Amino acid sequence: GILTPVSPRSVVEHALGLLGAQTNDLGAEIVFELPEKAPPVLADEARLEQVLVNLLRNALDAVSARNHRLITISLGEDEEHVLLSVRDTGPGIDEDDLPRLFDPFFTTKEVGEGLGLGLSISYGIVQGFGGRISAANHPDGGAVFTVTLRRAPEPA
Ligand code: ADP
Ligand code: MG
Repeated sequence: GILTPVSPRSVVEHALGLLGAQTNDLGAEIVFELPEKAPPVLADEARLEQVLVNLLRNALDAVSARNHRLITISLGEDEEHVLLSVRDTGPGIDEDDLPRLFDPFFTTKEVGEGLGLGLSISYGIVQGFGGRISAANHPDGGAVFTVTLRRAPEPA
């Protein structure tokens, strides 16, 4: 697809809109720490929304069996990149699974609950933007997924 300057803030807002009632039904709290002036990134907006939806769906699955159900979306930047991260208060990722997480059909979910394609598709999408996506366990618990995107060039 064609890469255009995309507002990370509106992508997150649209992704949350697409998930809609799923978030309320679970009683999960989603905290949105994006500054108003988040710099635009180079992406295909609909595809980046799909990546966010995939990450948020996984985060919702991860917190669903927990008492504390918090998902934090935050944004960082350096001169060349914008980093979007989705953190949850779920059980985190088994260290043995980390290297396989982005493989097609890798899932730890019950049959019928997950195809194991969300992360592999997301990986390919972000790679197509010249960015990357990574997974880690947060030192305080839970998983954190970080999408690193190229900043769109500033208008002259
Ligand atoms: P699916 O959700 O269908 O299982 P994904 O590709 O989206 O497929 O995710 C693959 C696997 O990665 C999941 O089955 C789960 O084991 C792990 N995973 C993804 N997101 C999280 C998360 N937020 N916390 C813990 N594990 C996760
Ligand atoms: Mg998934």
